[in-house]
Amino acid sequence: MIKSVVSKEYQNLQKEIVQLQEKWKRMIDPDTIKPNLDKAALAAGVPAAALAAIDFEISLFLQWVEEITALLIESSPNLKPKLADIGSLLNEETAIRWIEEAFSFNSVYFERFAEENGLEPWIPQFLAETALRPYLQLVAEKVQPEIDRGVPGSGCPVCGEPVRLAVLEDEGKKVCQCPRCLAHWNAKRLECSHCGNEDYQKIKFLTIEGDAVSQIQVCEECNGYIKIIDTRQYIEKPSAAMIDLNSIHLDFVAQENGFSSAGEKKITN
Ligand SMILES: [Zn+2]
Ligand SMILES: [Zn+2]
Repeated sequence: MIKSVVSKEYQNLQKEIVQLQEKWKRMIDPDTIKPNLDKAALAAGVPAAALAAIDFEISLFLQWVEEITALLIESSPNLKPKLADIGSLLNEETAIRWIEEAFSFNSVYFERFAEENGLEPWIPQFLAETALRPYLQLVAEKVQPEIDRGVPGSGCPVCGEPVRLAVLEDEGKKVCQCPRCLAHWNAKRLECSHCGNEDYQKIKFLTIEGDAVSQIQVCEECNGYIKIIDTRQYIEKPSAAMIDLNSIHLDFVAQENGFSSAGEKKITN
């Protein structure tokens, strides 16, 4: 049995967050999300969530930020002095900015926000990202029937998250899964999700001793990797968020071997 490198406390916190997000998602009025399945834009790799019209209910977002904050303080009481009045830093305008910047992975904005407000650097983006996900997950549910493939290099076709996880289904079919919005889409067995390389000589698989269900697919063309988990033997299929969390040891192995979950962008003229 592989010993997880992530602490039990961290895993439990993540599990509680996943449950909260489930609950929050049910609080969103589905009619506030209007997908726009522009085929040409999707084929060009624009994430479906960027094309959708979403009428965010800011009061809900602010309430969720408060709830995550309470959960964080409960699990690490030493965070309390700094987090206790984070609510006072957030007005409607800031909340809208948080949603936009979290969606586009703007860590520079959040690090600056943290610095200006004396918070630990990871906190603002973590809060914003956690409270944004229920919306992304609802977008994914709505557009899932239309999502069949991803565009290599563009990340998740719904939310744009870099691809890092796939599962094997019946007959070994490879299905990419997004731990962020929970969308899934089919991929060729020997295809790099980051650069589109299909040269089987440049696609390798790393395995972990004692872990028969997991592999790391690496690409020697772009140095990208994804984790592939064979979930066919699982009686109960965990969500992509949980599979991702429970396989974090594979990310460490891949990164220690010099591979990245984003691949390297090729410089082209
Ligand atoms: Zn996604
Ligand atoms: Zn590649």
